[in-house]
Amino acid sequence: LEPKEEFEHSSLAVDVMRPRRGDPALAVLTQDGMTVGEVETLVESTHYSGFPVVVSQESQRLVGFVLRRDVLISIDNARKRQDGIVSASQVVFTEHTPAQPPEAPPPLRLRGIMDLSPFTVTDHTPMDITVDIFRKLGLRQCLVTHNGRLLGIITKKDILKHMAQMANRDPDSILFN
Ligand code: ADP
Repeated sequence: LEPKEEFEHSSLAVDVMRPRRGDPALAVLTQDGMTVGEVETLVESTHYSGFPVVVSQESQRLVGFVLRRDVLISIDNARKRQDGIVSASQVVFTEHTPAQPPEAPPPLRLRGIMDLSPFTVTDHTPMDITVDIFRKLGLRQCLVTHNGRLLGIITKKDILKHMAQMANRDPDSILFN
């Protein structure tokens, strides 16, 4: 095998995705059940550009992907312009709004800002295929799943860093660039 081929076949999505072992868990939003205040706290406690939306923390079934700036702008606008939206309002990404407890403030529907079909690969997808898709589709990030459960995320920068590391370890694999 040429070094290039060796590189291409040896790295898998699971080797490049975040979080790494020992990192904090993937920061996700749930499709319902979180309040405006909880969503703001989660988004503002990190610098990530986006957040996967899942059915529930337990299931980790992927529903979509939202960009940090869209979440923050939408909440800001809703607080200013939408009657009754407060920190305790439930944020809802589902198609139908779940029944709210009596006395609860009105929910904030954010399905409209969610990408409903974010690109995903499985953990065992070879990186050469993933890189090819990033290039061809002009992706900024892609999500990684295993048996339908969300495992991690790969950004364009993660790929560039991984390529640089590989090139360091084995200068011939710079061919990959
Ligand atoms: P970039 O990689 O361009 O800096 P981000 O700021 O979104 O983009 O991501 C920074 C790092 O955090 C990357 O390594 C990425 O894989 C990881 N990351 C991105 N989004 C999340 C998230 N929601 N939860 C955990 N890690 C994330």
